[in-house]
Amino acid sequence: MSATYPHLLAPLDLGFTSLRNRVVMGSMHTGLEDRLWHRKKLAAYFAERAKGGVGLIITGGFNPNRSGWFYPFSGSMINMADALSHRVVTRAVHKEGGKICMQLLHAGRYSYHPLSRSASAIKSPINPFKPKAMTTKQVEQTVKDFAKAAKLAKRAGYDGVELMGSEGYLINQFTAPRVNQRTDKYGGNSENRRRFPVEIVEAVRKLCGEDFIIVFRMSMIDLVPGGSTHEEVLALAKALEGAGVTLLNTGIGWHEARVPTIVTSVPRGAFVDVTAQVKEVVKIPVIASNRINMPDLAEDIIASGKADMVSMARPMLADPHWVNKAAAGNADEINTCIACNQACLDHTFNLKRATCLVNPQACYETELVYLKTRKPKKVAVIGAGPAGMSCATVAAERGHDVTLFDSDDRIGGQFNMAARIPGKEEFWETIRYFQKRIEKTGVKVVLGRRVAHGELEKEGFDEIVVATGVLPRTPGIDGVGHAKVVSYVEVLRGGAKVGDRVAVIGAGGIGFDVAEFLVHESRSDFTKGQDTDEWLREWGVDFNSAEPGGLEKPDVTPPQREIYLLQRKTTSLGKDLGRTSGWVHRAVLQKKAVKMMKGCSYDKIDDQGLHITQGGESVLLDVDTVVLCAGQESLKELFELSQNEKATNASANFHLIGGAELAAELDAKRAIRQGAELAASL
Ligand code: FAD
Ligand code: NAP
Ligand code: SF4
Repeated sequence: MSATYPHLLAPLDLGFTSLRNRVVMGSMHTGLEDRLWHRKKLAAYFAERAKGGVGLIITGGFNPNRSGWFYPFSGSMINMADALSHRVVTRAVHKEGGKICMQLLHAGRYSYHPLSRSASAIKSPINPFKPKAMTTKQVEQTVKDFAKAAKLAKRAGYDGVELMGSEGYLINQFTAPRVNQRTDKYGGNSENRRRFPVEIVEAVRKLCGEDFIIVFRMSMIDLVPGGSTHEEVLALAKALEGAGVTLLNTGIGWHEARVPTIVTSVPRGAFVDVTAQVKEVVKIPVIASNRINMPDLAEDIIASGKADMVSMARPMLADPHWVNKAAAGNADEINTCIACNQACLDHTFNLKRATCLVNPQACYETELVYLKTRKPKKVAVIGAGPAGMSCATVAAERGHDVTLFDSDDRIGGQFNMAARIPGKEEFWETIRYFQKRIEKTGVKVVLGRRVAHGELEKEGFDEIVVATGVLPRTPGIDGVGHAKVVSYVEVLRGGAKVGDRVAVIGAGGIGFDVAEFLVHESRSDFTKGQDTDEWLREWGVDFNSAEPGGLEKPDVTPPQREIYLLQRKTTSLGKDLGRTSGWVHRAVLQKKAVKMMKGCSYDKIDDQGLHITQGGESVLLDVDTVVLCAGQESLKELFELSQNEKATNASANFHLIGGAELAAELDAKRAIRQGAELAASL
């Protein structure tokens, strides 16, 4: 037993096999699943996680038949050729001592194609395609297809399968009356609605034998009207156990639910207690999931008996060696998943290959490689924001002699402001991670020094990386110098006093964040997230609710201030925020009664407030404070001056990365990747 996290790192005996610890890498669709020519990349991606010590890996979803495709030609397990193509994956994982299950997923009415099928012909609000209702024969055939796919997965070398029965996919569509309005043996009362998943498990067990892991991911709480009741969830768990499931995994909420389940503002471990309720009624091991990202919490969950294992999907993208670091007592070296979704789920839903904002090597294991350098150089990095920290640490890891300069008294750049936003506290973890990595890789840090043009060349640096970030834009509005006008930097870092009625100019990512900062009551400890019970009440989630789906009326804490959030564009506010997280930001501000105004032109700011024109009409917003969040401009002077003098001074190579290179549409994803890619090439 490990001394550091004794419960988390204890093996789990499944009778016919054993898992080396209690950590499951949960299923994530990365975009590497669908094409044969990506198999080696998929193998390298999983092998890295197996090498990193994870107990059980679950792949992204593979469809058991064509009607279950996510979209045309998405990854399937239908024939022997499919099975053979996976051997490279299973061998790579087994070689590293890991175990791996293939997830089998039928998308049902979430399929993005016109031939989709479901329990009933009821369209999902998040998919333009209306499904056809399956005939009884088709349901029976689908049961067989799942079993055949599982058998093929076994032939491919998988240790088992996970049956995807949650998040509103086909199996979940059968269990809940929201979509199942059938009148045959698969519809009607709850026993009939359970029949489909139970028959699938029985068929898989029969065809694959006893020495095969069957994980069933069940929806512990649907979070949609017309979902299963709590009693039905418990009854399903017992029925699945009886049918032959090895491990019960947790799914929370349907994709169409209007309650966030994994974004960064969801408190850590918020849904563990609903899994604990299911664990009480079954004897098989149960896996907790959703917003578990660090070992202390994972250990607590297992030690307290709420679950037997924990599932983490995104945290394994962020740090493939999570388990080994925890086992070695080095949790502070873990590159924590900050639950931003920006490079993983947002990519997946935009049909782009997933990766990770804090770890650009994720899913690029064979392409972004940090080789030891044979020619160590003296490297200066100016700016210790995400771009600079990423560049400096990768360069030092490769063997260069790196010095990182910042004019501030701390590292982190703008992440020091991002982390102050309620619900974005995880961003502190990234600064902590880089602080540790800087120490480990031997980067020399010089804080409180504003580097001026021409200084570093004299200090003998071979490579000078300009990562000086951005300056907030000051728009040319009449009266912008008025005492009631402040920038977001003054609010978030300078502690500027803000009145009770506020206009926020600019509704990009930062405008939304600042509005969220201002409507929330300030917490005594701004490094800690929201209390879980309060968060559940605000979103109307009740694990003991008698209501189908577990939804009650939300109980929203009143906003701290009256806020107007403004933009010049006539499109909806927040339209360009992250695909899988933007709706949460919009919903929070709507709950807090923030007035969102589009198509505004700013006329002047004076003692009366902010004068605007909207739809041809003059409007006075009688506000005490105007906060400018009107975008940013690159701070690249050091680079530009160096380029002007290039002919006369060729002693150092200059590079420009992050916000300093391009402020428009900049986010930390690009900054960190650019820093790492440059460092990999030095
Ligand atoms: P910066 O972070 O701006 O760092 C530049 C550094 O250079 C600073 O530390 C500065 O002090 C230093 N510097 C400048 N000039 C000099 C000099 N001459 N000498 C020495 N040092 C110098 N991005 C996301 O992707 N997701 C988010 O959710 C998100 N939320 C945000 C919320 C807020 C409130 C803010 C303000 C930003 C947010 N961002 C977010 C944006 C993200 O923080 C930036 O994209 C990222 O920090 C850019 O990194 P950078 O390293 O290029 O620049
Ligand atoms: P942004 O997204 O470009 O938004 C700038 C806002 O300012 C827009 O609403 C723009 O809208 C307005 N604006 C631009 N020029 C103006 C002017 N001259 N006068 C008045 N208004 C003006 O930039 P940001 O909000 O500063 O964010 C910076 C970066 O950080 C972004 O790239 C973003 O991706 C990242 N970030 C991301 C998140 C996230 O959650 N993913 C959160 C925060 C920040 P109009 O032109 O319509 O007025
Ligand atoms: Fe986590 Fe963000 Fe990385 Fe996705 S992109 S794995 S949410 S840190």
